[in-house]
Amino acid sequence: MIPPIERIAQTGSTNADLLARLAAGEHVGEGHWLVADRQTAGRGRLGRAWGDGLGNFMGSTVVQLRAGDPLAATLALVAGVALAKTIRALAPAIDFQLKWPNDILADGAKCSGILLERSGDSVVIGIGVNLVSAPDLPDRATASLAEKGAAIDRDRFADALAVAMADALWTWRQEGVESIVRAWLPLGHPVGTPLHVSEQALDGYFDGLAPDGALRLRGADGEVMLVHAGDVELRRPVEEGK
Ligand code: ATP
Repeated sequence: MIPPIERIAQTGSTNADLLARLAAGEHVGEGHWLVADRQTAGRGRLGRAWGDGLGNFMGSTVVQLRAGDPLAATLALVAGVALAKTIRALAPAIDFQLKWPNDILADGAKCSGILLERSGDSVVIGIGVNLVSAPDLPDRATASLAEKGAAIDRDRFADALAVAMADALWTWRQEGVESIVRAWLPLGHPVGTPLHVSEQALDGYFDGLAPDGALRLRGADGEVMLVHAGDVELRRPVEEGK
C-alpha cells in the first residue's frame, strides 16, 4: 500500500507548510506526504537554502512520536536508509554512498538533502533529491541522478520513497535503532574513510556507527570519538609521495 501523497504545483517549503498545519492544530496523519513540483524557499539545515528544480523530488512527511519510540534524533538515520534504499531499488547501477547521517553522495557530489524539524510530538521530515538537475554551487560539488545515468520519474520516486519510509519506520519502532544502524552500514562510506567534522574541527577515520547511531571517528592515535551531531565532510585520502 502506498501512503497518501498530496501533490502541489508550487510552494515556499513543504516542511514549512506541514509545520504550519501542525501549529494550526490540524491533524496530519503519520505517513502523509506533501510533494511540490517547485519550491521557492526550500530549506536545509541551520537556515541553509535548498535549491529546487522541475522534475526533482521535494517533499515532506510527518512522524507522530509515540511512547516508547527510540530517540527522535535517530530519525535522521531512518530517513537516510529509506532514501538510499529507494535510490538503490530504482537506480541499481548508480554508485553512491550515504554520508553520515543521511546525505547521498555520488563521486563526492551531493545529490540530496534531508531536514528534520520537530514540533511537539511531531517530527517533520523534508527530503530533496536531485533527480533531474542540480544547482551549480560555488562552495560544493552537486550532482543529479540523471547525470549519473538514471532517469527516474518524480511520481514513481515519491511512491517508492513513501513505502521505503514506512518500512524503515516500522523497523525503527519494532526492532530499534540498532537494526537501522545495521541497514545503514552497507549503504554508507566504508570503514577507514577519512572524515572531517567541522564544528568540533575533528579529523579521523570512519569506524562504523555506535549502536545508538552516533558516528565513530577514529583519530590518528587510534582513539575512537563518538560524534552525535555535526557537519561531516569526506576527505580524500592523502596520496603517497605527494
Ligand atoms: P552537508 O552535510 O552536506 O553539509 P547540510 O546539512 O549542510 O549538509 P543540507 O541541509 O542537507 O546541508 O542542505 C543544504 C546545503 O546543501 C546548502 O547549504 C547547499 O550548500 C547545498 N544545496 C542546496 N541545494 C542543493 C541541491 N539541490 N543539491 C545539492 N546541494 C544543495
